[in-house]
Amino acid sequence: MTSLQAMTMALLSVALVAAVVWRWQTIGWAEMVWLAGFVAMCAIRTPYARRVRGNRIVQAHKDRGEHVVLAAMFTTMMILPLGHLATGLAGFADYALPAWASGVGATLQIPFLWLFWRAHADLGRNWSPSLEVREDHGLVSDGVYARVRHPMYTAIALSCLAQALLIPNAIAGALAIPAFALLWAVRVPREEAMLRRQFAGAYDAYAARTGALWPRWP
Ligand code: SAH
Repeated sequence: MTSLQAMTMALLSVALVAAVVWRWQTIGWAEMVWLAGFVAMCAIRTPYARRVRGNRIVQAHKDRGEHVVLAAMFTTMMILPLGHLATGLAGFADYALPAWASGVGATLQIPFLWLFWRAHADLGRNWSPSLEVREDHGLVSDGVYARVRHPMYTAIALSCLAQALLIPNAIAGALAIPAFALLWAVRVPREEAMLRRQFAGAYDAYAARTGALWPRWP
């Protein structure tokens, strides 16, 4: 992503968040919990995104599939929920949920944000928003990566589930779930193939003792 694109995205998200907060009286507490989680997610990522700016990238796999995945995640996890909460435009796609569903969604925000933070902290400068290998890339296999290979995607899966429960709307809430399925189906095999090429036997051994999305215990 160029710095102009990053700046445009940041400005757009700040404007949309401000527009949602402006309408806080018409928005339920569950939607506000989703918004707080979204702001926390951005706050967690920003310092790590800054830190990797100086990385020298030696391999980038940004093909059409990767662009589609990134666009699907950006649209369903940010533009549609914020756009709907700011305008109410997708109200026709609301669905009814039992009252406990918002409680489950709010509770899921806690493991989501904790895991999202730990995955960034453990990957450090090896993190990248798309599929890349940097100069001096190291295979991380400790911290939350000791038992699961894709803890950041586990965190994102929890966040998509929480979104569908906290924003009961087929467009602004639930669409994040098929978008995550797309990320899982398209990106994960490519990411693992890239890391296998990069780290050869070390990645095979690591994959044999870890779970993909869910931790494997010895
Ligand atoms: N799939 C991981 C990381 C997502 S960020 C997760 O869900 O936690 C994507 C980048 O992380 C990839 O481009 C890859 O270069 C890097 N990466 C993924 N797993 C890694 C590992 N175990 N060690 C080092 N880098 C890793």
